Amino acid sequence: MTSPKVALTDDEWRAKLTPEEFAVLRRGGTEPPNIGEYTNTTTEGVYECRACGAELFRSTEKFPSHCGWPSFFDPADSDAVILRPDDSLGMRRTEVLCAACHSHLGHVFEGEGYPTPTDQRYCINSICLRLVPSS
Ligand SMILES: [Zn+2]
Repeated sequence: MTSPKVALTDDEWRAKLTPEEFAVLRRGGTEPPNIGEYTNTTTEGVYECRACGAELFRSTEKFPSHCGWPSFFDPADSDAVILRPDDSLGMRRTEVLCAACHSHLGHVFEGEGYPTPTDQRYCINSICLRLVPSS
């Protein structure tokens, strides 16, 4: 993995983020289902990384997965995210990271049969995103 463009120390991230944001973005945590502010949001706009502000997803790639977290079938730009294998919790999953600051965003799942162009579900924590509505 290449070095992040935005590289801060843990102390610097702690100063920039709330404790809840730090736990998910910088420690790979997961917010509980159905409580995230963007779970069912259909507002048009761009979803940025809450840690560094990089553009990650667009509302046009968001779909109602009913899984409890905001779900996207494609990143805004394939270079916007990094994928890496995650074997924690005794299962093989693929972790999604922000390419610019390497913060944890969520996981991506494939082949679940959602009627989307990619058959992928980027299952992303709301707390890792910031929606910038189109004006
Ligand atoms: Zn970022």
